[in-house]
Amino acid sequence: MKKVVLAKGRERSVIKNHPWIFSGAVQSADASSGELVEVVSSDGKKLGFGWYSPMSQIRVRMLFSGEGEYSPSLLRERVFAAVGRRAGFYADGYTDAFRLINAENDLLPGVVVDKYGDFAVCQFTCAGADANKNEIASLIMEAAPGVRGVMERLDNDSRAKEGLPVEPRFSHLAGESLPENIKIKEGPCSFYVDPYKGHKTGFYLDQRDARKAVGSLANGKKVLNCFCYTGGFGLYAGSCGAEKVVQVDSSAEALAMAKRNEALVELCGTKMEYVETDVFRYLRECRDAGVKFDMIILDPPKFASSKAALMKAARGYKDINLLAMKLLSPYGTLATFSCSGAMDAAFFGKILAEASCDAGRTFQVVANTCAGADHPVSISFPEGGYLKGVIMTALD
Ligand code: SAH
Repeated sequence: MKKVVLAKGRERSVIKNHPWIFSGAVQSADASSGELVEVVSSDGKKLGFGWYSPMSQIRVRMLFSGEGEYSPSLLRERVFAAVGRRAGFYADGYTDAFRLINAENDLLPGVVVDKYGDFAVCQFTCAGADANKNEIASLIMEAAPGVRGVMERLDNDSRAKEGLPVEPRFSHLAGESLPENIKIKEGPCSFYVDPYKGHKTGFYLDQRDARKAVGSLANGKKVLNCFCYTGGFGLYAGSCGAEKVVQVDSSAEALAMAKRNEALVELCGTKMEYVETDVFRYLRECRDAGVKFDMIILDPPKFASSKAALMKAARGYKDINLLAMKLLSPYGTLATFSCSGAMDAAFFGKILAEASCDAGRTFQVVANTCAGADHPVSISFPEGGYLKGVIMTALD
């Protein structure tokens, strides 16, 4: 096996089980892209093995830390183990759509696999994952009960950073071809998912628990669902008895899918409205017109894609939350989220506290949310947890 030798004193994070080795920590490497390599310290001590990515700042993704030997059945064992850990999701019937493999957090760096009904959609976001994708796809067919076909999406930023092709946007990997739309069940709702053109692998599976929490608080309320995508939060609210739901998104395609999804949900006389516009603009228009809502959901796209972009992103989060806080009727509820990995929960909380002062309102937090149990986060890899949510109620 080819070797990657670390610079002097740079073995600490590997020993502590962090899965990434950055370029600055590498002294020498003679491997090619996607190759399995043995990682050794500057004084020749075996540290484990991983996948080599010569084009990326993250030069090695560790598969195994420690002195053990590499086993050719490692991928098979890891895929079966990750799928096995989802047994509860298969068993409880709440949903037939969940994440089967959550990359580094399931000890399969750069491998994301989401199950939608009888199909699986993958993303391979590092060179080593990409090099093994056909094997992983056939392992999914074997390991995941009921999966009839597997495809991959290539159109994501992480692949570009690894120097991996992002075109064509998708390709078929194993079993049957995937239909254009897959109907999934999630709690009280069903949704159509477009695995070819939808965001990420098609749907925001990571917000399942938050959708449930929002639904449980929505009865009888006038709800504004900002950045609604295909309608998730708003349709949960409707199915849980909201009086009215306004779904706002700038994408006509997403709204069209949200309307199709409405037909799949049993509403409780809820009045549904769809508005295609910029959320910042819509919130200001509501402010100027004196419109109020009992519940507002803010689930924007990632504002900060790096630490460097954090301060600008912080202003965006503050603006939008401040506007929403002012639009809430007395004792109203705000469910607000950030999927920027660069912003941690403490910083997000600080922004919300500042916004509430500027809005002249007092809030109490009724729930903190994160991605569900199908998106586990490795305890040694804080980068694995990007999503945070705060559900809070105004005390005035
Ligand atoms: N809450 C959704 C996921 C939101 S994804 C769910 O649970 O499924 C973010 C959405 O924000 C996308 O649909 C995107 O089209 C939309 N979006 C991005 N910028 C926007 C803006 N400035 N105004 C309105 N919508 C925007």
